[in-house]
Amino acid sequence: MRELVEKINKLKKEKNAVILAHCYQPVEVDLVADYVGDSLHLSQVAADTDADIIVFAGVYFMAQTAKILSPDKKVLLPQIKAGCRMADMIDYERLLEFKSQNPDLPLVCYVNSTAEVKSVCDLCVTSSNAVRVVKSLNAEKILFVPDTYLGKWVEKQLGNIEIITYPGFCPTHLQIRPKDIENARKEHPKALVLAHPECHMAVSDMADYVGSTTGIMNYVAKSDNKSFIIATEQGVVDRLKRDYPDKEFYPVKDNIVCPNMKMTSLEDILNVLENETNEIHVDDEIAKKAVTCIDRMLEASK
Ligand code: SF4
Repeated sequence: MRELVEKINKLKKEKNAVILAHCYQPVEVDLVADYVGDSLHLSQVAADTDADIIVFAGVYFMAQTAKILSPDKKVLLPQIKAGCRMADMIDYERLLEFKSQNPDLPLVCYVNSTAEVKSVCDLCVTSSNAVRVVKSLNAEKILFVPDTYLGKWVEKQLGNIEIITYPGFCPTHLQIRPKDIENARKEHPKALVLAHPECHMAVSDMADYVGSTTGIMNYVAKSDNKSFIIATEQGVVDRLKRDYPDKEFYPVKDNIVCPNMKMTSLEDILNVLENETNEIHVDDEIAKKAVTCIDRMLEASK
């Protein structure tokens, strides 16, 4: 593995490349990553970088977002088949159909959506900034796609807005059921439960804290508690264990793993860097419209 890491780091320098890695990636990807984070953090890095090449260790919509924000850079996705099952639940046609039922309401999308979907929406959010960004709309009612659970969680946090949600969901987070929280609490009574808002509302309602991956990591950093039950993707548990060896972390149940996120290997990263393959392209017209939706989010989350 050391040899692979050295080769990647050498190529990175030679080609003025930057490697961005999502927290759900296999943990060894961090060995070569320049930035590790959630969608919001990585979108901000993609927007600001002066590298010539961005290697996005994540899933397709993330690399697309990086390309939209940095159209002059070459954006490479190590595993071209790494998609997002939630993002795939809505396409352009289904979005237009959903919008046509309430054409005058602001249309907000989760960043976990395709460039085409973003190109029709007014505003984009990530799980880190969804509450703040939706609040900035000062609206009484909005449409939200594709994650029904994130939308309903935001509605509950704000209390004064109605959010009509599209029936999309994350199949990975939906594997976590209230019974799993009950069982984990019985097994680890002193541990706090930290959950991601993509979880079912019944799960979020049982958690001590609900937040994005960055939110969860920051919560652990500030908390005096010594043990935590983590109700999100396994990559977060792996990184917390590595970064806080004096604390204890329990996955809420086994195998909360996003198969697409785990496709990337160090070999794939080396391969795309060497050969500059798996380049992401976004149609100019779609990118022009989608960038407005993402820029509004970046502006509102400053
Ligand atoms: S964890 Fe869920 S939302 Fe995230 S990439 Fe995987 S399928 Fe998509």
